[in-house]
Amino acid sequence: MSQIEKIYFASSNVHKKAEMQRLIRKGIEIVLPCDENIAFQAEENGDSFIANAIIKAEALYRQVHAPVLADDSGLVVRALDGRPGIHTARYGCTEERKLTSQEQYTLLLEEMKTKEDRSALFVCACVLMLSAERIFIVQETVEGKIATAPAGVNGFGYDPVFIVADTGKSASELSDDEKDKLSHRGRAMRKINELIAMEEGK
Ligand code: IMP
Repeated sequence: MSQIEKIYFASSNVHKKAEMQRLIRKGIEIVLPCDENIAFQAEENGDSFIANAIIKAEALYRQVHAPVLADDSGLVVRALDGRPGIHTARYGCTEERKLTSQEQYTLLLEEMKTKEDRSALFVCACVLMLSAERIFIVQETVEGKIATAPAGVNGFGYDPVFIVADTGKSASELSDDEKDKLSHRGRAMRKINELIAMEEGK
């Protein structure tokens, strides 16, 4: 297979796009559907991160017929029996009102107030779809714990309240490089890059 130069990323999240662009193998451009005015929306009604990542990848592949990457990620909190899990993006939201990231992590801190076990993990399922039949799936995690107060300015989403294991820092206090080395998405994407390298070497 010749060198892949461009991969469509099944998302509208510009923060995730920036991370993916940093993480993907050099020479590949990550393109959001909205970058090319492609109206993309997938109903994430799967019952796992992988199921939702496959739904997003297949939906976008049907539109672009070119290599597609999809990521479904979220926060699994042990004291909350794994919530918000696959519902992390919608945590605390209603039909009438979407919460900002800050409102969401503030709500999480409130829910965690009485919990002793603050351990949690971020999960990232990545699906690389090279053709309708050639699909590669990776799921990775990063362990940590829920902070008692937000800290840091980098990153996005729940980063200010997620203390990354062995760092003593919230993900928002890490530099991009540090986060990429340790994060669920960084770990998953290094494996995806190995798969891409194997494909290109064929
Ligand atoms: P998705 O875009 O449907 O996969 O939803 C992912 C949810 O998890 C969103 O609420 C994100 O803000 C959150 N999330 C995923 N990865 C990260 C991360 O690296 N840092 C902080 N929040 C994240």
